Amino acid sequence: MRVADLAIIGAGPTGLEAAAGAARAGLSAVVLEAGAVAQHVHTWRWVRLFSPFELNAGPAGLGLLRGRGVRLPAPEAILTGEELRTRYLLPLAAAVRSSIEIREGARVRDVARADRLKGEALGSVARADRPFRLLVEENGAETEVFARAVFDCSGTWGQPGWAGPGGAPARGERAARRAIEYHLPDPLGAQRDRYAGRRTLLLGAGHSAATTAVALAALARVIPGTRFTWASRRVSDVPLRPIDEDPLPERAELTRRANAVAVGAAPRLRVAPRGQAPRRQANLRAGSSTSNWRSPGPCGTTTSTASWPASAMSPTTGCTGNSRSTPATPPSVRWASRRPSVRRGATGRPTA
Ligand SMILES: Cc1cc2nc3c(=O)[nH]c(=O)nc-3n(C[C@H](O)[C@H](O)[C@H](O)COP(=O)(O)OP(=O)(O)OC[C@H]3O[C@@H](n4cnc5c(N)ncnc54)[C@H](O)[C@@H]3O)c2cc1C
Repeated sequence: MRVADLAIIGAGPTGLEAAAGAARAGLSAVVLEAGAVAQHVHTWRWVRLFSPFELNAGPAGLGLLRGRGVRLPAPEAILTGEELRTRYLLPLAAAVRSSIEIREGARVRDVARADRLKGEALGSVARADRPFRLLVEENGAETEVFARAVFDCSGTWGQPGWAGPGGAPARGERAARRAIEYHLPDPLGAQRDRYAGRRTLLLGAGHSAATTAVALAALARVIPGTRFTWASRRVSDVPLRPIDEDPLPERAELTRRANAVAVGAAPRLRVAPRGQAPRRQANLRAGSSTSNWRSPGPCGTTTSTASWPASAMSPTTGCTGNSRSTPATPPSVRWASRRPSVRRGATGRPTA
């Protein structure tokens, strides 16, 4: 049985950097990648990073590429996903391959200590002595890889959060899955037809949601009937909280633009008063603008349900769902009070 020093799951930016470190340390390692090198980054290739190149490349990777004639981006360059992939990650993978095997199309299905059940010899040397066994799906067959250590660099892109409480599915969410996009969409490019002239519910207040809000607002400016509602759990006047003296200007700018979209919207919403169960219908009209930022008011949050059950939506980053718009009639939206018990102390912070 061949046992490698290290098995790395995923050949994204993290896995490749780890592989470069392993090469530098002279370890025997294998990288197992379910798709192609930098598969996930390729998926959001049109998006511009908000961190400069120097923060997206590590010392081991840069060290490995030095002297190989690769023209690296300038440290301060703000790259798109595709530029990061082609100008750094693919050359890095090629350099790593000179000493470490990268297996593409190799999906890790399970990881366990070889010959030890999960409850056996816990915390003992007898357990730690056994290598890890990785069950790998590759070319339609199952293979095994053994390694003394495993780095899980599989990223988060493949495990997006559900929209319900605690990150579990909301009621009806699984049934509505086909209408929901769990990743950052491209409404101005490849997915234009999916969003143009339609009404979309955008959930979440992270940077993926911000990017999507800015893109949907741009689409709405040129395609009549394009509308969206942006909903978040945050109790605030704006969806994204700006970071004080943000060291990343691109991120600060995205935050500013996304919040401007929300503030520029014309919400005509009723917010359930503190402690009251939701019981009315509110009409949502975009007016001259094209989005509705639902500011939940000082004491509770409410969530719009354009095509979802009103029960338990708990927005997660960058989730969008949409349905055909009916421009002549403003959409009817039901409201659910989400956190009626939140109170604010003298500092303005919620108190228990
Ligand atoms: C739109 C967007 C913009 C971003 N902008 C920035 C930014 O400006 N700055 C920043 O620092 N970060 C940014 N990020 C975060 C960025 O994704 C991460 O910094 C980086 O891609 C994470 O790299 P990773 O290698 O950890 O994961 P990933 O890039 O997700 O790579 C994981 C790899 O593991 C593989 N894999 C998954 N499961 C398995 C399995 N079971 N078996 C084998 N292989 C598997 C995948 O195919 C993939 O290739 C952004 C993310 C998104 C989505």
